[in-house]
Amino acid sequence: MVIIMNPDATAENIKDVIEMIQDAGLAAKVMEGSQQRIVGVIGDKTRLASCAIDALPGVERSVSISKSYKLASREFHPQSSVIDVDGVPIGGDEFVVMAGPCAVESREQLLEAAEIAKKGGAQFLRGGAYKPRTSPYSFQGLEEEGLKYLAEAKEKTGLRIVTEVTEVEAVQTVAEYADLLQIGARNMQNFRLLKEVGRTQKPVMLKRGLAATLDEWLNAAEYILNEGNPNVIFCERGIRTYETYTRNTLDLSAVAAIKHLSHLPIIVDPSHGTGKWRFIKPMALAAVACGADGLIMEMHPNPAKALSDGPQSLTPDNYYDLMDGVTKLAKFMKDSGIKTQDL
Ligand code: PEP
Ligand code: MN
Repeated sequence: MVIIMNPDATAENIKDVIEMIQDAGLAAKVMEGSQQRIVGVIGDKTRLASCAIDALPGVERSVSISKSYKLASREFHPQSSVIDVDGVPIGGDEFVVMAGPCAVESREQLLEAAEIAKKGGAQFLRGGAYKPRTSPYSFQGLEEEGLKYLAEAKEKTGLRIVTEVTEVEAVQTVAEYADLLQIGARNMQNFRLLKEVGRTQKPVMLKRGLAATLDEWLNAAEYILNEGNPNVIFCERGIRTYETYTRNTLDLSAVAAIKHLSHLPIIVDPSHGTGKWRFIKPMALAAVACGADGLIMEMHPNPAKALSDGPQSLTPDNYYDLMDGVTKLAKFMKDSGIKTQDL
């Protein structure tokens, strides 16, 4: 439930509303809407008599939220959220790019990739230290050693770090090194892991499950938010369909739908979304045009030698070329004031 206050409601009016919510054993969150303030009710709203709250001075009306996910919904929080990731805002006016190898393979490989990512204009370095591989015989990642190389790369370049956490036991360790915790597609419904990252205050990038509906994805975000971590960013990375030519089917309509249904930012991963390096640029440009808040892409100093996801990794030159296009298109969209959709 959200309580919509009159535009001229006083601080005293808001205090009374919060008190009534708290007296019912629930939590309240005040949000600034574009015209008026809104008080969100967190918890079992059946404990609250809406007729009593509607009668309080300064209250315009209360609205119950129909969706099973509440905190993630735009009904609950009409303004788009901007998530601060170590000083880099995601979900605001600036388009954000994350680039780097699928996996951290060695110190040299990662530091070289970081220099390339930086030179191309990315704000984040990606690189998996804990790798969820389809085959147990594939390279599984350097784990904490890999995290140390990521920290060194951050120190050298200033790039923020996004890296995956695959298990509950590793959350604290990964959170010490990462600026943005990545929950991979295979773990989107690992509810214990979602709760664990929800108990940290680290921003979380929640990738869409291989075959997850938008409703399931939004509810997965709700698990994190419900533990008290409001810093969630969605990442569309393609879903499984009958098509096999591309690795997955990149669902860009999800960007428009998530923007409509939720206040949280969403970025796009055209690397896993297509599985082929030559389709990353067109899908990256499309992601800018459809209103995504950023991109995460795989780039490797030498994709032919990559230990994981080489075929979908950009070479440095392809990456620079892509960044040139993405930067120009993002600037054009911003300067011309094109609004992708009414939210
Ligand atoms: C990755 O980002 O390297 C990865 C494993 O992605 P996903 O979880 O989307 O498959
Ligand atoms: Mn990968």
